[in-house]
Amino acid sequence: MKTLKGIGGSKGYAAGTAVVKRGGSEAPERYAAADHAAEEDRFKRAQAACEAHFAELEERAARDIGAAEAEIFSAYRMILGDDAFFKKALDRAKSESINIEYAIYEECRDVLAMFESMDDQYLRERAADIENVCRELIGCLSGTGGDFAVEAGSVNDVIVVAEDLTPAETVKLDKARIRGFVTERGGVTSHTVILAKALGIPALVGVRGIIGELAGKETLIVDAYAGTVGINPDAATLSEFMENCEREKKLQAEYALSAGKPALTLDGFHIDVLVNTGDADSIKAFDAQKCDGVGLFRTEFVYMGRADYPDEDAQYEVYGDIARRASGKEVIIRTLDIGGDKQLSYMGIPKEDNPFLGYRAIRLCLDRPEVFQAQLRAILRASAHGGVKIMFPMIVTLEELRRAKECVERAKQSLRGDGLPFNEDIAVGIMVETPAAAFLADQLAKEADFFSIGSNDLIQYVTATDRMNERVQYLYDSCNLSVLRAIRMVAASAVSAGIPWGICGEVASDELLLSVWVALGVTELSMTPSQVGKIKRLIGRVDKAKITPEIERVFEMRSIAEVKEFLGGLLRKLNEAE
Ligand code: PEP
Ligand code: MG
Repeated sequence: MKTLKGIGGSKGYAAGTAVVKRGGSEAPERYAAADHAAEEDRFKRAQAACEAHFAELEERAARDIGAAEAEIFSAYRMILGDDAFFKKALDRAKSESINIEYAIYEECRDVLAMFESMDDQYLRERAADIENVCRELIGCLSGTGGDFAVEAGSVNDVIVVAEDLTPAETVKLDKARIRGFVTERGGVTSHTVILAKALGIPALVGVRGIIGELAGKETLIVDAYAGTVGINPDAATLSEFMENCEREKKLQAEYALSAGKPALTLDGFHIDVLVNTGDADSIKAFDAQKCDGVGLFRTEFVYMGRADYPDEDAQYEVYGDIARRASGKEVIIRTLDIGGDKQLSYMGIPKEDNPFLGYRAIRLCLDRPEVFQAQLRAILRASAHGGVKIMFPMIVTLEELRRAKECVERAKQSLRGDGLPFNEDIAVGIMVETPAAAFLADQLAKEADFFSIGSNDLIQYVTATDRMNERVQYLYDSCNLSVLRAIRMVAASAVSAGIPWGICGEVASDELLLSVWVALGVTELSMTPSQVGKIKRLIGRVDKAKITPEIERVFEMRSIAEVKEFLGGLLRKLNEAE
């Protein structure tokens, strides 16, 4: 059995049949086609088939995900109906007496080259849409099955193998059949991993070269704990692997039981375990009975897939809905964190050389008061329905926090003027996700009502390691001592100021580090819903008083490996305890 290594993004075991999404950028075969009428006919049939396919996907996305996600397919259908564009392809096929799919490929390449030189982000996104539509058409014409989603829909236990998956591509997948994801690119916080975690499906990322190893339909065994994928295992290996899967299933049942109960350490210290939400799927699936509330509501999705900003009422509808459904439990709504890896064409943000260090998040909101006010008013109005709190992302200075809080005051004032209800005592906190905020935590703790550590970004900025770049993922490590010490510093400032502090980045659900967070006095952990039961169960096995002096040693260790070995030993003991 050939085994390839990757990084376990969403932990678990999975066995199934490989369905490979290939890049699709390769040229189709070019051949002479003298009978142009026949080519035209083939084109019309493919166009009709794609139209029906997109219409179905549009309906499915609207039903399963949300209207915003469905819009991409409506855009695809418009492109597909663009007679002027396809007439050029047909003319080319005729004049060169070649097959229509090759003519479409060439025409598409010309258009992409033209768009590439443009600075406008919106237009570049449209170019990607045109490319996707052309790929679908070419796949349909050449019968090369460009649409892997259709293939995935015909296999029962699917392991999706791709270079990477876009949000639009994931819509197409019949998620009930998918057992695992394996991607060549992406880091542990990529879209695919976040989606996989939300669905409770194992995902392995950064498995370089896997696509080249597969023809499709191979049996794969994915161990996302060890970060390995095995191709075509022999019978004995497969059966041992399936036993592991069974054991895992039993554990999952235990986790489900723990999710609905309060999480208390052995010595009675209570920790809230909440969920992160950030797309229509996770909002729909939110179940207040299975967690202690929403610890991070990423609001970006409300702004995505649209031609312009959502207005206050549209936002209030979304925030108010989750506040009501949380039945009084905490809902921390993070103000817009756009920029960096998340761009919106209608915001007109010029291309930046270093978008992660650029015009984003709170910087952008403070610079665009009308956008910020609409969101703050909507959040405040939602606070009338439950335990809503406001959280600012990417805070770097005290002045930023003060200015942002002044904006909240202004929004409150205008709501009072309009006679609209809201919670006057709403808590206003910050994400601690920059080294600047960590170093300034003592001052910030005096003016923020709570801290939530955004470890995804904090690790990136502390270690100067792009969280999406798999080449440098070995440095992007939560057990890096600088990261752990930064978190200890933040925790100490929060504890001495008497404010709650939590973690809402991916490390909140990292079992290995749970003892560290407990020892530092964490009051809440927020994570993807599928991880809540596992972490609550584990919290119930930790003795805070006993573990705290042991954890002190971690901060003096000399390597990531040493930290991991030590914490691994602690975790084994916790898991073995009855
Ligand atoms: C983080 O940075 O840890 C975080 C939770 O925010 P995001 O992943 O949305 O940047
Ligand atoms: Mg962040």
